[in-house]
Amino acid sequence: MKIYHSIKDIQRDILAQKARGLSIGFVPTMGALHRGHLSLLERSVKENDISICSIFVNPIQFNHKQDLEKYPRSPEEDCKKLDNAGCDIVFAPSAGEMYPEEVKEHYDFGQIERVMEGEHRPGHFNGVAVVVKRLFDICMPHKAYFGEKDFQQLAIIKALVEQQNMSVEIMGCPIIREGDGLAMSSRNVRLSPEERSIAPAIFKTLNQIQQKAGQEPLQETIRKAKAYLNSLPGMKVEYIQITDEQSLMPVESWDDANQIRAFIALFLGDVRLIDNLKIIYGL
Ligand code: AMP
Repeated sequence: MKIYHSIKDIQRDILAQKARGLSIGFVPTMGALHRGHLSLLERSVKENDISICSIFVNPIQFNHKQDLEKYPRSPEEDCKKLDNAGCDIVFAPSAGEMYPEEVKEHYDFGQIERVMEGEHRPGHFNGVAVVVKRLFDICMPHKAYFGEKDFQQLAIIKALVEQQNMSVEIMGCPIIREGDGLAMSSRNVRLSPEERSIAPAIFKTLNQIQQKAGQEPLQETIRKAKAYLNSLPGMKVEYIQITDEQSLMPVESWDDANQIRAFIALFLGDVRLIDNLKIIYGL
């Protein structure tokens, strides 16, 4: 496995691989890797000749300085895990390498960037779009892999690729969970043992929403879900939304429902967690 820190060096290598007709799969990450990340890489390894994984804690997508500072970093362990999982190339640039000058790009993705994460984390998706566009330009992948854990981000990336006429194919991958249902996240290591024992309530609540679908008014389901989570020690719900999967606009009642998904964002102590579940209803 090769590890590059410079754009020039990785590009030289990728251009040589492409000249040989090899297909390139790409998995962008912020490191502190877990089995969720590795599931994306494993899929890339299966579907491409060469798999690249980037590790870059992107400062411009953090809207709280503290969150950026406390973001877990484990570069050596990450590289071991990637090597074992069959990764060919790691790209781990510095912030100076990615952003030699002030970032000026401003993207507009319309309503999908104004709800949920977009509403609660101002500037977040612009930061994501800027870094992903640069990483795609550098790595020139045929396919790029993103988790449904960040479902709204996946929608933003698809919109970015369409808007910019990029030829990369975006592959959405299922959420990988711990045995007790907690969605794997790099931030989970920041939970105290007590918080960690409470955290599975998020997935439990998503499943309760699934069970209630069509059984009671949708707003009632959301209200009860919020009240339950807010009653747990240290939990503070930021939002619970049930939206159309395409537009990401909230649905008002179960009868409006077509392809819908439930989303939860909350703080557990000072750790922000998100999760979501496709809601199957009325089939
Ligand atoms: P991050 O390092 O948090 O930026 O995540 C890098 C990629 O891994 C993103 O496409 C995430 O959606 C994906 N990812 C993170 N956690 C999970 C998970 N539990 N299951 C599947 N994919 C995930």
